[in-house]
Amino acid sequence: MPTKPRNDPPPELRRAVAERSGGHCEACGLAHHARGARDQARAWHPEADLGGYSRDRLRQLFGEAAPRLIRIVLTVRRRPQAPDDHDPQHYEHLCQHCYHVRDRDLNVARRQQTMHESRVQATLDAGQPPLF
Ligand SMILES: [Zn+2]
Repeated sequence: MPTKPRNDPPPELRRAVAERSGGHCEACGLAHHARGARDQARAWHPEADLGGYSRDRLRQLFGEAAPRLIRIVLTVRRRPQAPDDHDPQHYEHLCQHCYHVRDRDLNVARRQQTMHESRVQATLDAGQPPLF
């Protein structure tokens, strides 16, 4: 099955965006390569803080599982609706979590648009003028 070609931003664009961000996620502020864990509510806890949490606090935040340590890796991503050019203003520097939140929001919007278009088409196919 053919795969969609990757459209990775070129190195000079990634460098310009990283310079602007100062090495921090432009949505939540976490630093590139920061180590820590996200709790059940997806809130960030630096690794250095976790050792000071009581067993009850850890259970309250993370449930029965131990906190899963991760390292933040920032990614350059084109802003939603931005032109597909190489203007650094059209790109943002995001951590994994913020990247996925943006994806989720975009996918919800796309799904709603597709559902709306399908309903309009079904109404037109039935020979009725669309009411919405
Ligand atoms: Zn972030």
